[in-house]
Amino acid sequence: MGSGQVTDSSAPFDFRGKHVTVAGLGVSGVPAAKVLHGLGARVTVVNDGDDERARTQAAELETLGVTVRLGDGATLPEGTELIVTAPGWKPDKPLFTAAHEAGVPVWGDVELAWRLRDRDGRKAAPWLAVTGTNGKTTTVQMLASILRAAGLRTAAVGNIGVSLLDAVTGDEEYDVLAVELSSYQLHWAPSPRAHSAAVLNLAPDHLDWHGSMEAYAADKGRIYEGNRVACVYNVADKATEDLVRAADVEEGCRAVGFTLGSPAPSQLGVVEGLLVDRAFVEDRHRNAQELAEVSDVNPPAPHNIANALAAAALARSFGVSAAAVRDGLRAFTPDAHRIAHVADVDGVAYVDDSKATNTHATEASLAAYESIVWIAGGLAKGATFDELVAGAAKRLRGAVLIGADRALIREALARHAPEVPVVDLDRTDTGAMLQAVQEAQRLARPGDTVLLAPACASMDMFTNYNKRGDAFAQAVRELGA
Ligand code: ADP
Repeated sequence: MGSGQVTDSSAPFDFRGKHVTVAGLGVSGVPAAKVLHGLGARVTVVNDGDDERARTQAAELETLGVTVRLGDGATLPEGTELIVTAPGWKPDKPLFTAAHEAGVPVWGDVELAWRLRDRDGRKAAPWLAVTGTNGKTTTVQMLASILRAAGLRTAAVGNIGVSLLDAVTGDEEYDVLAVELSSYQLHWAPSPRAHSAAVLNLAPDHLDWHGSMEAYAADKGRIYEGNRVACVYNVADKATEDLVRAADVEEGCRAVGFTLGSPAPSQLGVVEGLLVDRAFVEDRHRNAQELAEVSDVNPPAPHNIANALAAAALARSFGVSAAAVRDGLRAFTPDAHRIAHVADVDGVAYVDDSKATNTHATEASLAAYESIVWIAGGLAKGATFDELVAGAAKRLRGAVLIGADRALIREALARHAPEVPVVDLDRTDTGAMLQAVQEAQRLARPGDTVLLAPACASMDMFTNYNKRGDAFAQAVRELGA
């Protein structure tokens, strides 16, 4: 297989006897190596790390006949005709420089899945794809719930549940897939063409990986390339609409906006407590179709209504009925740690949004409540907090700060909300959460919400955001005990 042959075709092709290097063991690498091996490729896996877990994975692959090189992810194996990389690998790695010089194409896991999607004469399921800085998982799950309510065989795939590769190569047949795509995955996936796709929002994130905001946006924008029916954008986030304009799509493909306001023609929006479609209706200049009530969205926080509208737009672009949108939204329950109501104690609501690991997510979370005692802090990842704090100052009853970079938030509070009482917990041990919740209880009054929305990553104090949210919930239970 010449490298040209590989890059030029997006049709399925013959892997038999081809030298394929899989970059990175792990979530995507191991299944990719197995699938490629099963298709007759001569697979070598390269991996930077050489730890216990990598050795176990390597041993399993080696029994199949896959070659694994641990501790050397930089050298391009001799004879490589194609690299299939884990999405997180940075594009400036020496392996990719070497591949570029040798004219070897590099695919990510999503590109591989796309190329394998219609093997064995099976009809490939179209993709309804979602990206954005925040809300991807929630939106894809809402979308899958709506599609299921319409009686379609579907799955939410990507970072959650079934992997995309499993969905396209496994035995289960689907009518349509609800696909979550990260900016990394999109970077390494030039070929996929969705039925319709949505970019939910764009805020600075992962800039160290992409190199710049422009490069990040451009990678996100790839999701619209070649769309057949609709490019769904966020009316409140002009950058998403700009990406639609820049995209090369199939003739007849439409730009469809979603808005929390009243929808213009070719938009979905909200009118008097109802989600309303003015895009996928006959005579959109005069007509609108009621889809659901705002209260059908769980939780009915503004950003989540936006997610529901995006999911509805994608489903409607696939011909799904208004009733199925309503039933699907009603049947949806959000994953843990995403604005999860933990308990009411003495008239105060305790809400766990541990998944709010950046300021954009936290901004949405803070906008959802009137009077808040805010628990925040952790690893800031280079973020600044001025805008976030200035925007939320009026709704803050108080703040309790935890974690390594809490001083950054404390300083922003001093600048933009000097009257708000702040408790600064000088601790980064796991047990600090109990004290944080106790301090929050002290500050809160009946009717308030104590909101864990840290705007930071969790790894200074916890294994991950799940553990942080669990610690919060446990602490709340101890209050009530
Ligand atoms: P992702 O898969 O993009 O990380 P999630 O659905 O897991 O998104 O939500 C991540 C975080 O972002 C949660 O804290 C949630 O409250 C917040 N969030 C969800 N949807 C949005 C949105 N549309 N805009 C801003 N923040 C959001």
